[in-house]
Amino acid sequence: MAPRKATTAGICKPRKKARLPKIFSCLVCDRNDVVRVEMRRKKKTVMKDGKRTKKTVREGVGKLQCSSCHVKFDYPIGHLSAEVDVYSAWVDSLEAQKEAKKAAVATSTTTGN
Ligand SMILES: [Zn+2]
Repeated sequence: MAPRKATTAGICKPRKKARLPKIFSCLVCDRNDVVRVEMRRKKKTVMKDGKRTKKTVREGVGKLQCSSCHVKFDYPIGHLSAEVDVYSAWVDSLEAQKEAKKAAVATSTTTGN
């Protein structure tokens, strides 16, 4: 028989830094915790004064994908960008799309007479 661990073993873990969320709710299929954002940063060679300078540029692309409805969204990120920035950009773009649709419907329905 395996020795039993003490039942009083730590239930409350010490909290580290508050982490920014990386998993979000989907506005397309309306489910919680299905949207993941992956940050793909890259290194770059930059031209400066006609010289090629190797520089680590931590910008790249934030890739958002819903594991439920598979909606995708790419957003360019800077070195200060976080997953939540990609998500909010996606929310903004969805809003913009909605508005555009509304406007299109409005213009098509108001024609005639
Ligand atoms: Zn979805």
